[in-house]
Amino acid sequence: MSNENQLSLFDTSTTSQSASSFDLIPTDAKVPIPPGTYETIKQIADHCNRCHRCDLGNNRTHAVIGRGNIQAPIMIVGEAPGQNEDETGLPFVGKSGQLLEKILASVNLSTETDIYISNMVRCRPPNNRPPTTPEIEACKPYLLEQIRMVDPKIILFTGATAVKGLTADKRAISKIRGSWIEWEGRLCMPIFHPSYLLRNPSREAGSPKWLMWQDMQTVRAKLDEIQG
Ligand code: SF4
Repeated sequence: MSNENQLSLFDTSTTSQSASSFDLIPTDAKVPIPPGTYETIKQIADHCNRCHRCDLGNNRTHAVIGRGNIQAPIMIVGEAPGQNEDETGLPFVGKSGQLLEKILASVNLSTETDIYISNMVRCRPPNNRPPTTPEIEACKPYLLEQIRMVDPKIILFTGATAVKGLTADKRAISKIRGSWIEWEGRLCMPIFHPSYLLRNPSREAGSPKWLMWQDMQTVRAKLDEIQG
């Protein structure tokens, strides 16, 4: 190859003129995704559906970005997509999602207006295992961009994986659920994951379902207070 041809390999003027920065997919987890990289959720979805920052990208049908109102005052962060979510590209659409919708409706909250839902990782882990720490770290910049865009007044962490993944707090969810914590200047509350409630259906006082009901009433009251 001539020197001139070799040099032309370093010439990015053609691509930079014809392609926006959003065409440059950060497929390696070492490539940083600084705040402000994305302007829309659709841009994030576009990258995630072609992303291989971790191995979860190898088997996905759809990357699962989020659903609900992107201007919602409350954001819910779960763990990872399951089979239904992988198939539809939407978070919390299986049995856990149906229960979550019922729980939200019980305190007059809805994904149409008040809630935006996402997960710690955007691609389904095999056999529904929890995502690993490297997978969570690889996917976290996408979540942080979503949180920046939605700019919620309240964030609910559903389950220990979300709490640990964002705040590094490793305490059991049963110990910290229902308490307000501050993370990155935001008001947050850990709550039970709906799948845990499906495995513990009792509604007796003190049961996980009963505690969830208390927590959601606390969240509703706080939102009313914030919104005046
Ligand atoms: S889980 Fe996240 S980081 Fe991993 S491949 Fe999917 S979108 Fe990329």
